[in-house]
Amino acid sequence: MNNIIYTSREELDELRNKKLRAQFLLCVQEVPFYKELYDRHGINADVVHTMRDLTSLPIVDKSVVRDRCLHPLYDKRRCLKSRSSGSTGEPFYTYFDRRSWFMKKYWVKYRARRACGMRFGDRVSIIDTDGDQALKKKNRLFALLFPFLNLRAFSIFDPLSITIQKIRTRKPTIIYSMPNYLFRLAREMERDGIPIDSVRLIFTSSEYLEKPVRSYIEKTFRAEVFDVYGSTEFKEIAWECERHEGYHINEDEVICEIVKDGVPVATGEIGDIVVTDLNNKAMPLIRFNTQDKGMLIDTPCSCGRTLALLKIYGGRASDNIYLPTGELIEAFRLTTSIEYIAGLLKYQIVQTSYDALFIKVITDNDTAGDEVRKIIEDTTHHTMQVDIERCESIELEKNGKYKVVKNSIDKS
Ligand SMILES: [Zn+2]
Repeated sequence: MNNIIYTSREELDELRNKKLRAQFLLCVQEVPFYKELYDRHGINADVVHTMRDLTSLPIVDKSVVRDRCLHPLYDKRRCLKSRSSGSTGEPFYTYFDRRSWFMKKYWVKYRARRACGMRFGDRVSIIDTDGDQALKKKNRLFALLFPFLNLRAFSIFDPLSITIQKIRTRKPTIIYSMPNYLFRLAREMERDGIPIDSVRLIFTSSEYLEKPVRSYIEKTFRAEVFDVYGSTEFKEIAWECERHEGYHINEDEVICEIVKDGVPVATGEIGDIVVTDLNNKAMPLIRFNTQDKGMLIDTPCSCGRTLALLKIYGGRASDNIYLPTGELIEAFRLTTSIEYIAGLLKYQIVQTSYDALFIKVITDNDTAGDEVRKIIEDTTHHTMQVDIERCESIELEKNGKYKVVKNSIDKS
């Protein structure tokens, strides 16, 4: 099954078409949410046969789906579920049938990590958002499922200095965590002059990985960073290989489209990442707008793997910046304009009023802040007051995530 990564394009597409047809039939015939939705759009069981027909279906998002697209034969209590925050703050649950959960949670991840160089005998440390109880449970499960991997989970809530000590004692060859957390850990290591030098590979996920943050983590740990793109609704969607030319989409699990104003855009254009799940029967998500920004690349990766490439951009649609003239500046335009600045380690751009931006920067020189100001003033056509604050840390959002661009204007 591992060779799905190297199978021919034709074989992979045939498999994807078959899976899509099965998911579509399941939805249009058996899931009340889709039966009603498709009925309203005049869509019957004959509409989708291959991936090319997918654009005939309406795009959905968290606000319309909630848990309404659950298959009636699956009992919520017997499904495995993931929780994320909904569009209006209420929790959003995605339910998975057992088979697709285990495939996504373990096999698909394991397959990608192996492709990136994880080997038998590697010692893996995962630093995650679990509390004490969940951590113990996770570690018991890891020992049971992957005795050959030496897998151990730690909590991001422990003091950084304690975690550094624990990691130094354990000597992992692989670390898996969120970029923002690893950045803080690396800063602490550098400040205290306590290195962690056992690590060969670092996997990051759950947050947008800014280029300067990647470089800083790689420099401090002296290890290669591989970023993974995923979401609670689909688990891992795409991952970087050793060439870092983009993220290989798990194409036997999902179909990714890039959409702008509800219409798919050509490869090479940036838009919202819209995902269709090909395997989850309990709560099939068809053309679900993740609201993350991405771009499809039409050239295959130079590594020779068949799985197509996706590029990820920072900043969600809800965090776009509006100029006093009413012009919209998409968040990713700001992030891509400043990420190459030397000495800029981390930043956060906040629109605080209709004509003001407040930018926090963590830098290791005295000039990066000024450069950020100049570029952002240019990008916003000198219509905004741009204030820069150099600081040592940037707070997280209430959900524990880090926002690289943030619109704090009350839109109500
Ligand atoms: Zn590749």
